[in-house]
Amino acid sequence: MNGRIVVTGGAGFIGGNLVHRLCENDYEVVVLDNLASGKRENVHRWATFIKGDVRDPSALAQAFAGADVVFHLAALPRVQLSITDPVGTGAVNVFGTVNALVAAQVARVRRFVFASSSSVYGNPPVLPTPENSPYQPLSPYAIHKMLGEMNCRTWSSIYGLDTVCFRFFNVYGPGFDPSGEYALVIGKFIMQRLAGKPMTIWGDGQQARDFTHVDDVTHACELVISAKLPDKANAFNIGAGRPTAVARIAELIGGDVMHEAPRAGEPRNSFADIRWVSHALGWSPQVSIEQGITMLKVKLGLCA
Ligand code: NAD
Repeated sequence: MNGRIVVTGGAGFIGGNLVHRLCENDYEVVVLDNLASGKRENVHRWATFIKGDVRDPSALAQAFAGADVVFHLAALPRVQLSITDPVGTGAVNVFGTVNALVAAQVARVRRFVFASSSSVYGNPPVLPTPENSPYQPLSPYAIHKMLGEMNCRTWSSIYGLDTVCFRFFNVYGPGFDPSGEYALVIGKFIMQRLAGKPMTIWGDGQQARDFTHVDDVTHACELVISAKLPDKANAFNIGAGRPTAVARIAELIGGDVMHEAPRAGEPRNSFADIRWVSHALGWSPQVSIEQGITMLKVKLGLCA
């Protein structure tokens, strides 16, 4: 048996996939999740499940006891929700992360991995965007992630906690939640297509994103468990390293489209420079957007 790994938010989309990979690869896994959006059935049967809230320090202390590495994924991760409810989302995303850092420090975990986001870059001055680009958050959600990263760095410098911030770029794949107002674009398009409706493109559809398959994300997570890193505080881009226009996603899914006014708080273009993470972790993305969307369409019965 490998070490004991805790995944907060382990009943969610990325967390569920990560827990699955870790359980199958012989790690002892503990999940802490309040099931705000996650589902109990997403949690692999070999994992220990604790229903608890990251706003509750005692739940974190219970989950983190004896942990080797913590993946802190629990969040209310929607840009538009953070605009309509900055206080409620901030309580989970900002103070929940501070609580998790305190619990990790007290439990003396060896490494704390924080799920950050490409949204911390806003509209970056350089594309592809390297990790040393400036913070330019455009929404409360992006501010929450920026503060999470700053707190991680502070915990490394003051308390000596080893922290890694993974800036995820538009993750998609099996287990994503396509329903609801705040679904990411691929999920939203697929839901609309399944319902026989046209796919809604905000603006002209030429805004490009770096769509990253969840299998590539969980692979990076597994590698970071035992990676030897140069520093006590690290930040890495986890992206496919390739831009794809939203209109191209609609084309790959196939079907009618309709255009609506662009939304506030979202960057025009974003894609990752992945040279640093490839060097530091020996990681590179394996699933192209064409392969990833084809796999999803097959799974959902959208193509033969
Ligand atoms: P998700 O919504 O599927 O998972 C989040 C999980 O956190 C859910 O299971 C939810 O029940 C749980 N949760 C919410 N509030 C909680 C609380 N107060 N206490 C305990 N658990 C709580 O989201 P996801 O797409 O799997 O994202 C996981 C992480 O990765 C998040 O931190 C998100 O901000 C980050 N991220 C995701 C993407 C992406 O494209 N999916 C991109 C960048 C960053």
